[in-house]
Amino acid sequence: MSNIILEIKNLQLSYGTECAFSNTNLSIEKNKITSIIGPSGCGKSSLLQSINRMTELNHEVSISGDIFFNKQSVFDTRIDLRKLRKKIGIVFQEPTPLPLSIATNIELPLKEHGFDNIKERMESALKAVGLWNEVKNKLKSPAGKLSGGQKQRLCIARTIALEPEVILMDEPCSSLDPKSTEIIEELITELRNDYTIVIVTHNLSQAKRISDKTAVFWFDDRACSGSIIESSDTDYIFNHSQNEIVKDYISGLKG
Ligand code: ADP
Ligand code: MG
Repeated sequence: MSNIILEIKNLQLSYGTECAFSNTNLSIEKNKITSIIGPSGCGKSSLLQSINRMTELNHEVSISGDIFFNKQSVFDTRIDLRKLRKKIGIVFQEPTPLPLSIATNIELPLKEHGFDNIKERMESALKAVGLWNEVKNKLKSPAGKLSGGQKQRLCIARTIALEPEVILMDEPCSSLDPKSTEIIEELITELRNDYTIVIVTHNLSQAKRISDKTAVFWFDDRACSGSIIESSDTDYIFNHSQNEIVKDYISGLKG
């Protein structure tokens, strides 16, 4: 049985006439953590947000190529986008809690998706991200009052409450202090048992620490846009790659 949950095939994305990335291919294995690394502006976020079709919320965007999720194209006209985005959740760089209470941040999406046992699910999501003991006595207070790291864990809890298969994370630690980053990194490695995680990070040592697989994005001079130039086991990318650009980037010479 194939353990590939997501297959990105020859994907290209443009904003208006500007090509963000092209010729992009990537296979993502189930229950693994895949890091996407590379310099700023080469298309990492655009690729990540294409996976659950969020880039198309921008009407200037045009996409070609394909993305298969459990062997079905995400561009299939029969796809229910709400369900797709429930199965493939996303966590952004800046924590984005709703301006509501801590509990409502998780309960509202659960209600919208028709889940039962809302209170129990809210509690277990908060426990899964290690936030329950910190917030159990102030569930009705505004989520905006939490620290940056707590807000980000709340956003991860909100995503996992919906029982996704894949969690996309776009630089989830880049606005956090080192201690919160450590907590989120530990959490991500624990989540691997139950979810497939794709994480964009510009932090090479983070990619090395937490991911099983690494994909390197780079600017393709001929195409005037970004593309994935190599993807493999993280150990291979960091210690054995034969690609000169990857070797230089990893050793801190480029990017
Ligand atoms: P990364 O995440 O690797 O920094 P992005 O995916 O954000 O890269 O950006 C890739 C390219 O697409 C960049 O040239 C960027 O300027 C452009 N881009 C990103 N978002 C938009 C947008 N909403 N509208 C127009 N161009 C965009
Ligand atoms: Mg980005």
